[in-house]
Amino acid sequence: MIRLIWFVLVLCFLSFEINAQEIRRPKNIILLIGDGMGLNYVAANILNDQNSPFKKFTTVGLSITKSIDELITDSAAGATAIATGYRTKNRYISVDTSYNKLYTIFELARKKGLSTGIVVTDDVTGATPAPFFAHINSRYERFDIAKQFINSNLDVVIGGGAKNFLQFSSGGNRPGEVNIMRALVSKGYGFYYDFINLSKSLSSEKIFGLLAKESLPAASKREYTLGNLTSIALNHLNTNEDGFILMVEGSQIDWAGHDTNYVYLLSELEDFSTAVNTALEFAQKDKNTLVIVTADHETGGMTITDGTYTADSLKIEFVNTHHTAGLVGVFAAGPGEDLFKGIYDNYMIGRKIFFLLDDSLEYPFN
Ligand SMILES: [Zn+2]
Repeated sequence: MIRLIWFVLVLCFLSFEINAQEIRRPKNIILLIGDGMGLNYVAANILNDQNSPFKKFTTVGLSITKSIDELITDSAAGATAIATGYRTKNRYISVDTSYNKLYTIFELARKKGLSTGIVVTDDVTGATPAPFFAHINSRYERFDIAKQFINSNLDVVIGGGAKNFLQFSSGGNRPGEVNIMRALVSKGYGFYYDFINLSKSLSSEKIFGLLAKESLPAASKREYTLGNLTSIALNHLNTNEDGFILMVEGSQIDWAGHDTNYVYLLSELEDFSTAVNTALEFAQKDKNTLVIVTADHETGGMTITDGTYTADSLKIEFVNTHHTAGLVGVFAAGPGEDLFKGIYDNYMIGRKIFFLLDDSLEYPFN
């Protein structure tokens, strides 16, 4: 009898342990996407930098990147999978193949009272950030995507692409039918067009930093890092006691891959790693933040074919100038990180985040 009681007690304890592990949810989530950053990109960063932040993660997984009907995904379908938990067609932004809106992790986060933000080195209407705040069947409808910021209520938006917001009369490309700048100002956004002023913005206000007319300059040509921008975003978002979710994109890692330009590539990876470090430092102090780093796909079939033993110089080659189906890494640290172990489809990243945001959801959901 006593044995039986002990057995039941141990069983209860074990199930409590498992449940406790299952429901360990973070207050804040920082999701960093290195666009095109396949595993060899991560290897290049690690070999190049003894202090590479990738080595600091305690959980590593692998993501299978596909769109709904093609083996090779583009950034729109890749980011949609992460933002919604569902695959869609290439070029689609958080809509399914019948153009129905797909519910996003940002929409759930806002419903739960969390703040949301994006920081990118691309145009803020780019194919990777867009699925986090817009729904449309073409990534190329930039003016429409920009307009969708009006109702998406993000708290922080930082990147390039002012031309999609400014009308012709103000030096932009936008046709004159809707003044979205005015609409956004009336929603309470402070607008910033350069880094110095942005860094002086009040942490209590909603901010829109459009630091370039097109995308931001390459990392080697600007005075601030993606880490600096991430830090500004975190200062703003961290004012919400209920928490936040921030998406940071190292957008130009992919462009360097398309250009097969390894000098550009290494410098963009280094810039991205400043953001990863900023996120990890924030999480270490906060103790209630999950940091996830991943990619939407691999670009160029990049590999390291030679170099010195100390990696003073790396010989980097590409097999093509397009995306490939190479697996990408998922690096996680913080409450809920265990969910990101293993090998899974890209849309599972979104589903795991949904699960962490909402304790009424069951896991896994297929
Ligand atoms: Zn991409």
